[in-house]
Amino acid sequence: MTAPPRSLLLLVAGPSGAGKSTLLRWLFDRDPRLGFSVSCTTRRPRPGEVEGREYYFVTEEDFLRRREAGEFVEWAEVHDHLYGTLFCEVDRMLDAGRIPVFDLDVQGGRKLVERYGERVVSVFVLPPGPEVLEGRLRGRKTDDEATIALRLGNARREIESAPEYRYWIVNDDLDRARNDLSAILRAEELRSEGQAPPQWPDWASSEGGDSA
Ligand code: ADP
Ligand code: 5GP
Repeated sequence: MTAPPRSLLLLVAGPSGAGKSTLLRWLFDRDPRLGFSVSCTTRRPRPGEVEGREYYFVTEEDFLRRREAGEFVEWAEVHDHLYGTLFCEVDRMLDAGRIPVFDLDVQGGRKLVERYGERVVSVFVLPPGPEVLEGRLRGRKTDDEATIALRLGNARREIESAPEYRYWIVNDDLDRARNDLSAILRAEELRSEGQAPPQWPDWASSEGGDSA
């Protein structure tokens, strides 16, 4: 017998360069029930990013039109660009019994929890320290110096919000961090949450019996 699956949403946050995408790529490869909630952004694609996979890359005009039309669960300005989570992305996955996964900044994460409550499993990915974070941002070779400086400047404020998250993962050793993320998801799925126990059909005939 398997327990009825809990309908979860997985929120992964942390400063840019902490390793969120690296961890999530691994998790997606292992668990086909997960689906990434592709956000809209007005920032330009980085080399290798694909429209509709990492983001929907939109113009500011298009973003504002969608915001006006109420298409976003939440939206925020992050590192000088607009980002927003689409209702249609989340609903499509929940309706299909999948687990939507979100990579959002702190403000977005708060709004997600406001809307979906306890079902949101929130995880904060911490880099082992500032030098490592800077090294990873540079090593990624996707951002120019000004962008790296902006992201490092924002990291301290973002890390201050870590206590708002249900779990922390320190991403020093990648294997351990991956296993931590996988363990968190599994444990959350197994929570009973005071649900009614499963009903076994063949028990109807034995009702009233004594176990002694
Ligand atoms: P984020 O999605 O949080 O911005 P990334 O996943 O892009 O961060 O990781 C930033 C860089 O750090 C990437 O080049 C990635 O390969 C590297 N990285 C991630 N986790 C580790 C780790 N545990 N050890 C060493 N390098 C890592
Ligand atoms: P990046 O430009 O590195 O992909 O993302 C920059 C920041 O924007 C990250 O902190 C990421 O978590 C956040 N972000 C990405 N998509 C969204 C979104 O839809 N909403 C919010 N609030 N933040 C987002």
